[in-house]
Amino acid sequence: KLGNETLKAELGRAAWKVFHTTLARFPDKPKKDESEALRSYIHLFQRLYPCGDCATHFGELLKKFPPQVSSRSAAAVWGCHVHNQVNERLKKPTFDCSKIGDFYDCGCADDEKDEKK
Ligand code: FAD
Repeated sequence: KLGNETLKAELGRAAWKVFHTTLARFPDKPKKDESEALRSYIHLFQRLYPCGDCATHFGELLKKFPPQVSSRSAAAVWGCHVHNQVNERLKKPTFDCSKIGDFYDCGCADDEKDEKK
């Protein structure tokens, strides 16, 4: 069956949105268990990514650039960097990772504050 570039691109945009927003909401000071959860999530995101070709390429990137899970900013900048690697391969413009800080807003209430009571 032929691939469909329009659908592949749509999937990619949706997936990157969830991916970067997840990293943007990761704790600043994660517990060990939270860092391990993020590491697993990233590896499973790669392993189960629906476009097989994309998943294979992304797997090579994860080997070259292992997930950074020590803090929110480390994770967000790492995510930006690996997306830029994909952009480069697809000849797309590079994103300025110094601007990643408030680009991905989940639109959710501040649940950290709620938890503090
Ligand atoms: P996208 O790359 O989808 O980006 C969406 C938006 O994110 C951009 O408009 C911009 O606002 C923002 N953005 C751009 N760069 C960054 C960055 N570095 N950090 C943060 N935000 C950024 N497609 C293929 O054809 N072949 C592949 O091998 C392939 N591999 C992929 C692997 C993965 C893991 C994923 C998630 C997608 C892959 N895709 C692949 C899809 C591809 O990356 C794009 O999503 C798709 O081509 C649509 O591109 P786009 O120009 O709309 O922008």
